[in-house]
Amino acid sequence: MDCCDLCRFIVTVEKGRITKFEGDPHHPVTKGFTCKKGKDLVQRMVHPDRIRHPLMKKNGRFVKATYEEVFQIIADKLVSIKQEFGTKAILNYTSDGYGGIKNRIQNIFFNCFGGVTQPQGSLCWGAGIAAQQYDFGSSKGHFPDDVLNADTILVWGRNPKYTSIHLYIA
Ligand code: SF4
Repeated sequence: MDCCDLCRFIVTVEKGRITKFEGDPHHPVTKGFTCKKGKDLVQRMVHPDRIRHPLMKKNGRFVKATYEEVFQIIADKLVSIKQEFGTKAILNYTSDGYGGIKNRIQNIFFNCFGGVTQPQGSLCWGAGIAAQQYDFGSSKGHFPDDVLNADTILVWGRNPKYTSIHLYIA
C-alpha cells in the first residue's frame, strides 16, 4: 500500500472467509503493529464495489469485458510493436499502490518476451535513487534500527505518521 514497512500478517481463514487478521508479533521490525491501511485490506478485498473483471473503454464509457478479449487485444498490440519497432519500444512501467511480490511478476513475462525498457524506480522514487547516487555513490538503504543512531533526522516531503508509521514510532 505505497509503504515499504513490509508488515507481516497472520490471517485466519475459516470456510473460505477471513475471520481474523492481525500483525505478526514475531516480525523483527513491526512487532505486530500495523497501520489502519493494512487492517482495512480485508474490507477492500470483500467490498461489493471491488472490480472483479476487466473493463474496456468503449464510446467514452467503461464496459465489462472478458479476460480472453483483453488478453487478445494486449497480445496483438505487443506482437505488432515487437515486429515493427523491437521490444525496447515497450515501456514496462509498474510501481506503487500495491507493493507486494506480484507487483513485479510481469518482469518475468517481459524478460521472456525479449526484454523491454524499464524505468529506474517510480515517478517519485526515480528522483530519490538519483539523489542517493549523487550523494553517496549508490542507492542503498539502512537497516530500520539504524535510525536510532542518528543525531539529526531530516524528514523531507513526507509525513511518517501517515506514510511510514514504524519510523514515527521508532
Ligand atoms: S505500515 Fe500499514 S501500509 Fe505499511 S506495510 Fe504495514 S500495514 Fe501495510
